[in-house]
Amino acid sequence: MADMLAGSVLITGCNRGLGLEMIRQLVTSSTPPRVVIGTCRKPDEALQTTYCKETAPDETSLNLKRLAKVQQIGSQNQIYTEFLALESNVVDYKSLPGLVEEVGAAVGPQGLNLLINNAGIMDKCSSQMFGIPLEHLEPHTFSNVMETNTTAPLMLVKEMLPLLRKAATVGGAIGVRRAAVVNISSIMGSMVVSRIVRKACDVSCTVRKVCDVNCTVSKAALNMLTKILAMNFGDEGLMFVAIHPGWVQTDMGTSSGMITTQESISRIFKTLPTLMEKHNGLLVSYDGTVMPW
Ligand code: NDP
Repeated sequence: MADMLAGSVLITGCNRGLGLEMIRQLVTSSTPPRVVIGTCRKPDEALQTTYCKETAPDETSLNLKRLAKVQQIGSQNQIYTEFLALESNVVDYKSLPGLVEEVGAAVGPQGLNLLINNAGIMDKCSSQMFGIPLEHLEPHTFSNVMETNTTAPLMLVKEMLPLLRKAATVGGAIGVRRAAVVNISSIMGSMVVSRIVRKACDVSCTVRKVCDVNCTVSKAALNMLTKILAMNFGDEGLMFVAIHPGWVQTDMGTSSGMITTQESISRIFKTLPTLMEKHNGLLVSYDGTVMPW
């Protein structure tokens, strides 16, 4: 990453997968943000666990503990980055005021520049890579996914708004270096693209008619949320974008994913600083392509 992404960054779901890779790339960057905050359900445990359960953790695998060490070495040499791992279950809304206090203390009077809503879930049944056949779908499965992938990001934005507004008042061009929310979404939430992807899948899938509510309905709602927030708060200097990370090799994306976490995140971090006012409320792919709704 050649240029600094933002002064302060808060990322949810950072103990594995894409979230952990974001932390790794930020903390080891030659121009790291002033403050990097990663949240996860069990930070103490995450400080010891490996980064992806499925893709063969070995001695080269990364964990938050090692990242914390890298960060310390970096800060002793020449760069000072504050790296905090904070506890947060994104659907535990009662804990949000406490989280806001901790984040506010870490970012200081400059406020929070960038919130990345990354934590997400996908329920699937054992016979399907993605989705659940309709006859096996339970109401709680649907609502759990909607809550984690859609309600929780909205509630976090609501609580973090004062800190984002603080950062926005500093001024400058609209973008991630000023005040922005990046919602990690999926092209499967795009009505246009999901139809094309589904058609391609139908050619190769033997079992069809799965109700893939996980990748589709919750992310479509997240995309609309991104749009609505951009429309409501864009005039205050805040940017909201939905990012499709690609089909990535993580526990969720499985080892069949097309790209690694390293590739996905390095391209996302190259794309984010290029986004400006005209991108507010859009769905953008990891490589910078604007995707249709
Ligand atoms: P993983 O399953 O590897 O990681 C998901 C992360 O979300 C974990 O850190 C998990 O924490 C966290 N999480 C889930 N529920 C909660 C919760 N209630 N509170 C706090 N943290 C929670 O998935 P990815 O890294 O692949 O996915 C990251 C994002 O990217 C998701 O939003 C996903 O929908 C999106 N995405 C991924 C794609 C892919 O191909 N991988 C494609 C399109 C979108 P814990 O360990 O505690 O469960």
